[in-house]
Amino acid sequence: MPEDDLVMLDSHNEAMLIHNLRVRYEANSLYTWVGAARSVLISVNPYKKLPLYGKDQIKLHQNRPPNKPLPPHVFDIAHDSYQSMMFENKDQSILISGESGAGKTVCTKQCLDFLAEVAGSESGVEEKIVMANPLLEAFGNAQTIRNNNSSRFGKWIEVHFDNMERSIQSAVIIDYLLEKSRVVYQQEGERNYHVFYQLCDSGSASDLGLGEASTYEYLNKSGCYKAKDIDDVQEHDEVLKAMDLLGFSAAEKEFVLRLTAGVLTLGNIQFDEKAEKGSVTGSAIREDGPLSAAASFLNVTEEDLAAVLCYRSISVRGKTSTIPLDPSKARKGCDSLAMGVYSRLFSFLVQRVNDALAGKQGKFIGILDIFGFEIFDQNSFEQLCINFANEKLQQQFNRTTFKEEEALYMKEGIEFEHVEFIDNQAVLDLIEARPNGILLMIDDEIKIPEGSDAGFLNKIETLYKRNSKFQTDKHRKIQNSFNFEIEHYAGVVNYNGDGFMDKNTDTLYQDMYDMCASSESPEMQQLFPPMEHRRQMVSLSSQFRRSLNELMESLYSTESRYIRCVKPNKDQVPDRFQSPMVIDQLRYSGVFEAVEIRKTGFPFRLTYSVFACRYSCINKGHTYRSRDEVELAKEILSTSKQNFDDVQFGKTMVLYRAREYKILELLRNLAL
Ligand code: ADP
Ligand code: MG
Repeated sequence: MPEDDLVMLDSHNEAMLIHNLRVRYEANSLYTWVGAARSVLISVNPYKKLPLYGKDQIKLHQNRPPNKPLPPHVFDIAHDSYQSMMFENKDQSILISGESGAGKTVCTKQCLDFLAEVAGSESGVEEKIVMANPLLEAFGNAQTIRNNNSSRFGKWIEVHFDNMERSIQSAVIIDYLLEKSRVVYQQEGERNYHVFYQLCDSGSASDLGLGEASTYEYLNKSGCYKAKDIDDVQEHDEVLKAMDLLGFSAAEKEFVLRLTAGVLTLGNIQFDEKAEKGSVTGSAIREDGPLSAAASFLNVTEEDLAAVLCYRSISVRGKTSTIPLDPSKARKGCDSLAMGVYSRLFSFLVQRVNDALAGKQGKFIGILDIFGFEIFDQNSFEQLCINFANEKLQQQFNRTTFKEEEALYMKEGIEFEHVEFIDNQAVLDLIEARPNGILLMIDDEIKIPEGSDAGFLNKIETLYKRNSKFQTDKHRKIQNSFNFEIEHYAGVVNYNGDGFMDKNTDTLYQDMYDMCASSESPEMQQLFPPMEHRRQMVSLSSQFRRSLNELMESLYSTESRYIRCVKPNKDQVPDRFQSPMVIDQLRYSGVFEAVEIRKTGFPFRLTYSVFACRYSCINKGHTYRSRDEVELAKEILSTSKQNFDDVQFGKTMVLYRAREYKILELLRNLAL
């Protein structure tokens, strides 16, 4: 009989845990608790529709009868969060993790559905929260080889409730690290962001004068135009509807579509070699068509656009001069313009969504849907940021789980074994400590004129030669490779430092920025405020560190629950459970340690009165003499003649483990 809760298993070796999950999965039981406190839930992606959701199921879980336990469910996490917020008056968080395609975004939506259904609102804000999804997904999701609707950005959604009524008042969405490079390049079998295909396929195409998807360089390189199970035309209608519901004006809607078309068209501008003064190679734009289309979509003049694409101003000792760019540099610059415009457009959309969701703030439930730990064959700056975020979250998980346990044992005044938990502070220091953490060193390097990837690598190699969590690639000296390794809690990751500096410099070239800022369109001016840019470097690493630290601060002040999403196979098909894959994922997400922490501790804790009420029946016919409730609990246990030596008697509770729990329940069932 598979257990609802992994902590209840007699043996806790990895094989047993996996076997239990597999048996449950085969019976369509996707969800499994880790611990009776119901703060950690494992969810295995079924890749098929199961009748577990919808309004009726929400009602069922909302009104769950106390004595009739239901199988574990994602709704329980949402329900418990809502209850704790109400009764303990504390902000809550639901942290959802797992690799791409494991079901994080689906879980997020299910939690939101539950809250929308149970709490509701007067203003209809919950409907807007749900409607924001198709809009943000159109611009932030894409088909990848791992997931046909993969979110390429992380998000934190804070749902705020009214302190009296407990209905939804407002919400805030914060986005993290949109994958910009996808706009200009996708690997084989993957797509660009959904919105581009929507534009080319739908009625918007003729409004905007766009061609078929295959005519665009940013779409026709990966050999993939259709995403599995996604109807681009229908989704586009949803996007347009969502913009209406979220209060976009007609002008804003048009602006969003035109700017997206502009980004797409930038890819089709081609550059030929052109001789400049002396023997310098410059660029000429091959055909005017794409240039004039892009200029019109971006609301800038053709001349200005051509100038920023083919030339760049550089200033040396206060003197600005203009240099011609050869075709490959011009192409690179054009791509960076496309990425820069698109990421600003995405931020604009998030901002507008937030405007629509704004309202009174009160106690909140925050839901985090963020990329899981990544180990690819090639790992770059993006993976470093993502894995850094996961280290932070893992630390929060460990500290919270561990601290809460210990705090309770201290309060109850019972003896407990100190549980060694893996604190990953050492890796975090390596990455983010001042002044020399790896991410800070990248920032330093981009500030110096002669900064380079190699310079950065030499510095961190010297600094961290003796750090046990760090290693430069053994072959580096020979192959002149740019690789270094970090030992993350989830495993060793080999990063290729090539391109770190460029990736960390999250700034549009000044000329390009100024051109966009000079547009006559008020929306463009909003996206590119004239004063903001200046010449200072805005590094991605510092932005990300700041937003992550704010998130962590917020998380530490909440009561947290965790959903560990697991992907049972790489093929995105139902009824296929590949154990090795599942083991890896549970290891990455710290589930085995969580089981360990819970098991070494005392996961079952009942107040004395509840304990007596439930278990005095196990000694049929026995007349109890104890007056004191502690004595009564001891008498119940000793009369039973079973071995209960490990049971702990705290100040207000009886605490014990799965073994004792099972015996007690068995005795109770026999007696009833
Ligand atoms: P992630 O956000 O972790 O990358 P998604 O939430 O997008 O993954 O899920 C990937 C796909 O898996 C979904 O598009 C859906 O087809 C399937 N899926 C996920 N969760 C469920 C579920 N509970 N029931 C049925 N299918 C699911
Ligand atoms: Mg997702």
